[in-house]
Parts: sequence; structure tokens; C-alpha cells
Amino acid sequence: MKYTIVLYPAPSVSQLVSMVELGKLILHHYHHLFSITVLIPTTPLHNPSTTSYIHRISQTNPSIVFHHLPSLPPHKSNLNPVAAAFESIRRNIPNVHHALQTISTSSTIPAFITSTSFSDYSDLKIPTYYFFSSGASALAAILYLPTTHDLFTKSFKDIPATPLHIPGLPPILASHMPQPLLDRSNPAYNEFLQLATHLPKAQGIIVNTFESLEPRALKAIADRLPVYGVGPMTANAQDRTHASGNDLGNGAECLSWLDAQPKQSVVFLCFGSQGKFSTPQLKEIATGLERSGHRFLWVVRSGEDSEFGSLLPEGFLDRTREKGLVVKSWAPQAAVLSRESVAGFVTHCGWNSILEAVCAGVPMVAWPLYAEQHLNRVILVEEMKVAMAMEEGEDGLVSAVEIEKRLRALMDLEEGTILRERCMQTREAALATWAEGGSSVVALNQLAELWKGG
Ligand code: UDP
Repeated sequence: MKYTIVLYPAPSVSQLVSMVELGKLILHHYHHLFSITVLIPTTPLHNPSTTSYIHRISQTNPSIVFHHLPSLPPHKSNLNPVAAAFESIRRNIPNVHHALQTISTSSTIPAFITSTSFSDYSDLKIPTYYFFSSGASALAAILYLPTTHDLFTKSFKDIPATPLHIPGLPPILASHMPQPLLDRSNPAYNEFLQLATHLPKAQGIIVNTFESLEPRALKAIADRLPVYGVGPMTANAQDRTHASGNDLGNGAECLSWLDAQPKQSVVFLCFGSQGKFSTPQLKEIATGLERSGHRFLWVVRSGEDSEFGSLLPEGFLDRTREKGLVVKSWAPQAAVLSRESVAGFVTHCGWNSILEAVCAGVPMVAWPLYAEQHLNRVILVEEMKVAMAMEEGEDGLVSAVEIEKRLRALMDLEEGTILRERCMQTREAALATWAEGGSSVVALNQLAELWKGG
């Protein structure tokens, strides 16, 4: 009988892409032992870009099989997106159960790996692993949630300046905890609390990180649970572009512009798949960029195409034509970061963006917006030392003065040089995890040994 590892992502495009990368990694090393089946929940992944992404992966990686779960009737529409995702995970439990039973009639399933909140499939006697697609530091914070829940009576948002002492992390302000955890009355808070309580039941937790990137956080988790850092896994820019439903055409323009710029001269600004700014904030960014005098490639997601120019200060695009390129919505980030002309990256601190910058050895200016990104900023600056922090003003805006100051520090001052050297060392460390004896190779081998035996 063959061995099929079943992957089940939480219902979001980025979770799907991360899971597929895990599948590719397993197949790259162990295609002779295992095949991969990915369970696809229908909502909210049932859209043209996901379909096109799955089609592309099926063509480029024919050994990855996609198994679509039956569609669910629509659920209550008043749930926020995170709570809605948890709701659809819950309603899919019987479907997943059925899919696992079906697959196990023709295959042995040595591992069921999921990034959804935990449910009990123990009657099927399939070893279940949790996959965490963000960093070990964010995972350590989530795992510590039952403790902070008992320590405090108020929501983190109501005690924002209280320092939290979480094992494996530097002190974190309560307001810097992952966004869904800030408010106890948010249904997602309870879901994460449940998740943190259930995770210790998993056979192990697989994390998209590597030992030397987050040693303290990984150690703190390993003190309680089997944890396997098998990163860095990053999707290539073309797969990402397909998954996001964006146009590859934009990419060619960005890359040829970058190739025409001097080595180490360009600051790249890109804020993930969701990062949007208010018009006043866009104007501050534009002014800061212009005043810094540096070259830039800036991805702007805000506004409709027609009003794009009017969101920026008058004459900005004309005045910076020689020095900068502003693109609407999307750039092939992973490819951009690997260009020789790119010297720095202003990022929203999404975990995939962080790993892509780490792999390219590009220093970051950390400007978190949502999810677990505020926590990531602390880790990037204080633990990994691969970024400097962009500081918001009291009104929540980052001023043009702050932006100019950070860009100058990054590009012109010794601070930037030290950061750049540190990033090159971190890049070497990332490469070393995949060399013989590297920590991620060792962790993956340990898993494969368990699965072969299972
Ligand atoms: N990305 C990209 N071009 C863009 C914006 C995002 O290629 O213009 C990619 C980026 O390279 C990364 C992913 O989209 O792989 C964003 O993931 P991340 O975890 O950084 O942030 P999220 O979008 O989940 O907040």
C-alpha cells in the first residue's frame, strides 16, 4: 500500500500556498516514499485565482493531488473573517473525516498535517500534526495564551502598555499581541484559546522557520511539545502571483526597471496582500520618499486605478520619474528582493515577506499593519536584528519625517551598513539549514523517519 500524507490548509489563499510549499518540500526530499494529497475546503477558496493556482501547481507538480471537499451551505454573514474561517473549519469536520476515511481505503496515511484549528480525528488512528505557517515567536505567543488568559482579567487592548513575559520572546507589549487576540469579546480570541489548549494533543508542530532564525522561541516551544522547524519555505513569485489573482505582466516592468538601476540603490516598499493606506498616509510616504532622495519601487494597493495619481501629492509622479517606480497593486516580490539593485525593504512584516527578505539578505524597515505583524516587528528588530523599526505617531500615521529619517539611516548611515552585514549572515544561515546536517534537513528527516515507521 502506498503512503499518502494528507495536508489540510485553513481556508485562506495564503494558508493554501504555504501548505503546498510544505507538500513540495516533502516531495522534493521524499518523493520515493510519500505522495501528497491536499484537501481543499470550498469556501472561501472557491474563486478563479485559487482555481488557476491549483491548475498551475497540478501541472508543475503532478504528484500533488487536490481533493476538493463538498461545498458548504452559506453561513451567518455577520461573522468577522477570522471567525468565519473558524466556523467553516468546524462545519467541514465531517467532510474531512469522510475524506480521510476514503483516502485510507487505498493508502496508508502516516500523517495528517493541518493548519486548521484542531479537531478530533483520533478514531481514525491517523497521526495528526499542526502546521504553523508563521514564525515560532508568534506560535509561542499563541501557545502561552491560556496562561495570559488566567493572569489578566482584561483584554490586551485595554492594558496596551503592559509588558508580557512570554517564554522564548523578549518582553512584548500587550498591544503588540496578534490582532485577533487583542479583544476577548472577539469570537476569534476564544478560537485561538481553544487552539492553544488543543495543540499539545498533536504529534508535533511543523513551523515555517529555522533553528538559527528563532532559537529562543523554538527552544521554548520544544520544552513543551515536539516542534519541527522546516523552513524557510517561500513560494516563487509566479506561483504567488497566480494565487493572488494578479497579472504577471506588471512583474516584467518592475524587474526590467530594477535591472536598469545601479547596484544596491533601490528601496522597495510593499505591504503584503492586504496592506492599504489612507490618502493622508500615502501622501506622507510619497513626501518621505521624495525627501530621502533615494531610488524606490513602491507598490500601492489603495484606491481605484482611475484615482491612483490623485492619491499622491501633486506632481509627485512627474518629479520622481527618474528615481522611482510606483506600481499599482502587485509586484513579484520574491523576484524583486533578489535583484542586485535592491538595497532595502520597507515591509508590513508578514511572515512570508520576512522569510523572502531573509533569503535574499535584504535589510528591512519594519512597519506592521495587521495580524501578528506587530509582534514580528519586535522579533525582527530585537531578536533577529535584521530590521529597524518604523515608528507610528500618536495619531497612528507614520510621518514623512520618520520615513525620510529611516530611509537615510538604512541607505546612508553606519546603522544601515551594520544591518546589511547582519542580513548577509542571516542569509548564509538560511542557506545552511538546507545543507547536509542543517537544522531543517535534520527536522524533516526526523519527521520522515516517524512517518516511515508509522
Ligand atoms: N506579494 C507579492 N507582491 C505584492 C504583495 C505581496 O509577491 O505586491 C507576496 C509576497 O512576496 C509574499 C506574500 O505575497 O509571498 C504575502 O505574504 P505575507 O505573509 O508577507 O503577508 P500577507 O499578505 O499574508 O499579509
